[in-house]
Amino acid sequence: MTQASLEQRISKLIRPEVRALHAYQVPPSTGMLKLDAMENPYQWSDATKQAWLDKLADVEINRYPEPQAQGVKDRLRQVMGIPSEYELMLGNGSDEIIQILAMAVAGDDVCVMAPEPSFVMYQMIATFCRIDYVGVPLDSQFDLDLSAMLEQIEARQPALIFLAQPNNPTGNLYSEEKIRRIAEASQGLVIVDEAYTAFTDCDSLSLLGDYDNLVLMRTLSKVGLAGLRLGLLIGKPEWLGEFDKLRLPYNINVLTQASAEFALEHYELFREQTAKLRQARSSLIEALQQLPQLQVWPSEANFVLVRSLEKPAAELHEALKGAGVLVKKLDGGHPALAGCLRINVSTPEENQRLLDALQAQL
Ligand code: PMP
Repeated sequence: MTQASLEQRISKLIRPEVRALHAYQVPPSTGMLKLDAMENPYQWSDATKQAWLDKLADVEINRYPEPQAQGVKDRLRQVMGIPSEYELMLGNGSDEIIQILAMAVAGDDVCVMAPEPSFVMYQMIATFCRIDYVGVPLDSQFDLDLSAMLEQIEARQPALIFLAQPNNPTGNLYSEEKIRRIAEASQGLVIVDEAYTAFTDCDSLSLLGDYDNLVLMRTLSKVGLAGLRLGLLIGKPEWLGEFDKLRLPYNINVLTQASAEFALEHYELFREQTAKLRQARSSLIEALQQLPQLQVWPSEANFVLVRSLEKPAAELHEALKGAGVLVKKLDGGHPALAGCLRINVSTPEENQRLLDALQAQL
């Protein structure tokens, strides 16, 4: 078989929209100060690590995991204060949950909607599942443009509406009133994505009782367990029972289950770390605001959105990389993010390293 005929065979079989995609890119980061992926920088103490490893020693790796991961769910319910009338479904990261939701509604004439710019996986997963995606621009303050959203809801009747609260990559919260108006106007399901809820005082648990068409999605990634890949969906059992049919068997592996149970039993540790990060966020924002070459947005998450006003963002990104600091370049993606970089909030020491590098490179 020649290369040309192989190419031909692939392009005949693989859907054109898949051919046009790029696989999710993660830049190399060995040895870098990693401020690009909203990870928690804090390590566990040696004693905590040892206690975790002792627990893992009891894991039976030759056995399939407990299929419902009930132990993890019970502890999540307790730590997050989730009332007993709601059900939980776990995913291999909340990315997997987005995919399950999309698979559940996929079909002809179905669309998924999200404000833009927001988390890119909403659109990517819609594409994976062959669902139309409707992006509704945020206003100039990165707030929801309610009338545009309501207009599109009426015109397109989206099956799913994703609202990241606070939003990635802009870091802001939407008002509860706007979320309520969207839920009321929608025939479809509204997913309030609270990936960053640990970094804000706001949460939407109380909305679950008011709407039949609203669920919450959360993750353990941002509080300090990104390596576990554990996301959760919270909602009425009637919805979750349907979605659970699409979850692959044993999607939460034995190591993740044991580690998550351990971590949730020591959740105070994560509360302390997120409190420290929230403090560090205020100091970082204040320091960034002192740099006249940057526009800086407020943030309710563990990252800060900035715009480079003088040096092109791509150049600044490269220069920071050269100085050993990796941040996320958003410039070149959504037009509203022209010139923008997203910077993870880290420890005071690492934030200072970032500030020094920025000062030298701006
Ligand atoms: N939702 C939002 C808004 C996010 O920013 C992210 C991660 N970047 C996710 C969901 C996915 O998180 P995970 O798959 O790690 O749970």
